[in-house]
Amino acid sequence: MRKSSKQFETEAIRTQMERTQFLEHSSPMYLTSSFVFEDAEDMRASFAEEKDRNIYSRYSNPNSSEFIDKVCKMEGAENGFAFASGMAAVYSTFVALLESGDHIVSCKSVFGSTHTLFTQFFPKWNITTSYFGANDLDTVEDLIKTNTKIIFVESPTNPGVDVLDLERLGNIAKKHGLIFIIDNCFASPYLQQPIQFGADLVIHSGTKLMDGQGRVLAGITVGSNELVDKVYRFSRITGPALSPFNAWVLSKSLETLALRVDRHCANALELATYLENHDKIEWVKYPFLTSHPQYELAKKQMKAGGCVVAFEVKGGLEAGKKFFDNIELLSLSANLGDARSIVTHPASTTHSKLSKEDRESVGISDGMVRVSVGLENIQDIIADIEQALE
Ligand SMILES: *Cc1c(COP(=O)(O)O)cnc(C)c1O
Repeated sequence: MRKSSKQFETEAIRTQMERTQFLEHSSPMYLTSSFVFEDAEDMRASFAEEKDRNIYSRYSNPNSSEFIDKVCKMEGAENGFAFASGMAAVYSTFVALLESGDHIVSCKSVFGSTHTLFTQFFPKWNITTSYFGANDLDTVEDLIKTNTKIIFVESPTNPGVDVLDLERLGNIAKKHGLIFIIDNCFASPYLQQPIQFGADLVIHSGTKLMDGQGRVLAGITVGSNELVDKVYRFSRITGPALSPFNAWVLSKSLETLALRVDRHCANALELATYLENHDKIEWVKYPFLTSHPQYELAKKQMKAGGCVVAFEVKGGLEAGKKFFDNIELLSLSANLGDARSIVTHPASTTHSKLSKEDRESVGISDGMVRVSVGLENIQDIIADIEQALE
């Protein structure tokens, strides 16, 4: 394991590719599709993988490698591969590890596109999935079959912000010889490092808190050398590689991850606390509110509660729509983890394709609002929500 001797923030800032002869302070951008060889022998040895060096940017690139190195240090992982989007990471990781006939055990509350991948595309290759509820970990072992290969979860979940017991799931995976994969995007590596709880692979959409300013799409998978090597072999052939430009942006963004996420979490907790005492709000859910059903677990697994607050406006769907139409400062947008606060209405947008019953089974009511709390001054965030509720 790439055990790090320095603190999180220091590694995020000081992990850097080798300097060139110009002795630049900030890492340069290597916008190059390929790399050159000294001679025929150098080229032969490189292709034979006798040398660890860059050949072609679909395989590796100094900017992607710097980004991967940072995330590995943050997550306590041995190795990783960087992708053009979070979904490229999810898709490529599963396909690299699975064969026709394999089975996945997954939490029901997963990112919409991941759910679609499991339900609409994997069955084409005879890969099936069984689901358990975020608050129903007792059923996980019952779902495991002889052909099960992977346990997959997200925690906290989207948009219901349920918290799953990662150590318990890690132990189940170990007991049954399964690969335990976590999409850690909602927490970011700063708040939660799932490998310490038994995760074999950790996936991120770099698009969210890692970039943090809504500029680039990216994804990454990190974990053990053995599993990452399988993901790498598949991915270098199929071509989902992250662009060096986006890798450069992300590596820079990670320098401020801890600082930004601290403020996201402080703002989110303040908003959640404010809403909890509001007479126009039915309920509010945030992992670090003492009223959250898994508050103690959240405290154990996470450094802070994250940027997402979920709540229900009294009056259901109609009241929810009215609330959205009256929002002025906050953005109505599909992203999260951005410096700009974003509100979404899961029932009419991201989860509209699910039946009302299915939505309710993953904790999405008609009047539910999801706020990704940004970095604006919290007084202005609260003021906008207050006037929209009025
Ligand atoms: C956004 C997101 C993804 C997908 O990431 P993209 O970069 O949009 O492809 C996957 N998982 C979670 C939890 C997400 O929030």
